[in-house]
Amino acid sequence: MPEKYRMLITAGPTHEPIDAVRYLANRSSGRLGLCLAEAARDAGWQVTLLLGPVGLPRPAGLRVERFESAADLAELLDEHFPSCDVLIMAAAVGDFRPRPAGERKLPRTGEKLLLELEPTPDLVAACAARKRADQRIIGFALEEPAVLEARAQRKLAQKGLDAIVANPLETMGADEIRAILYTADGRAIQPPEGKPLRKGAFARWLIEWISQNL
Ligand code: C5P
Repeated sequence: MPEKYRMLITAGPTHEPIDAVRYLANRSSGRLGLCLAEAARDAGWQVTLLLGPVGLPRPAGLRVERFESAADLAELLDEHFPSCDVLIMAAAVGDFRPRPAGERKLPRTGEKLLLELEPTPDLVAACAARKRADQRIIGFALEEPAVLEARAQRKLAQKGLDAIVANPLETMGADEIRAILYTADGRAIQPPEGKPLRKGAFARWLIEWISQNL
């Protein structure tokens, strides 16, 4: 793999501010995205990792930029997406954010507090809508096992992705991953052996597949 091929990987949760000190988050650990970044680096890609608010060790040999909220990540994608060849969107972007996020700390009053949530923009769909013909985008779908395949296929089409990694809910925060890759040209591909893989092994398999097929 020549050094000139660039991979942009997003990883980790978002923190969506409620007020000056509180946020809405999710359980994503960012570990799979970090494994993907290391596997891509080891396979010879020039890697930029956009990493959310997690306490993971900083990987050597690749560029790391940090984000907190979906809005931060949107800005980083505006900056880095145009120069990448492949985007792997593994970040667990919050689907909803509090509106409006106050600047001050909300005081405790003893009364109940109602938060209004607005949808966040679909960042990977926005990248797909403006991608060049030579760029490739892989997304992720995390769903209940019973609806995993149908929803992953729908997201693949709706978001305009080249491929989507479908994984069941229990993957979040776990050490292992049992996933299927669905492609825009109608293929369903599983890592060999069909058993759950450690995240590092899955990442190496996915990067190898991307390097050979996309
Ligand atoms: O729609 P859903 O959140 O299930 O889709 C998951 C995929 O979409 C992941 O690749 C995630 O990174 C991406 N996503 C996004 N922007 C959002 C929500 C999800 O790019 N606001």
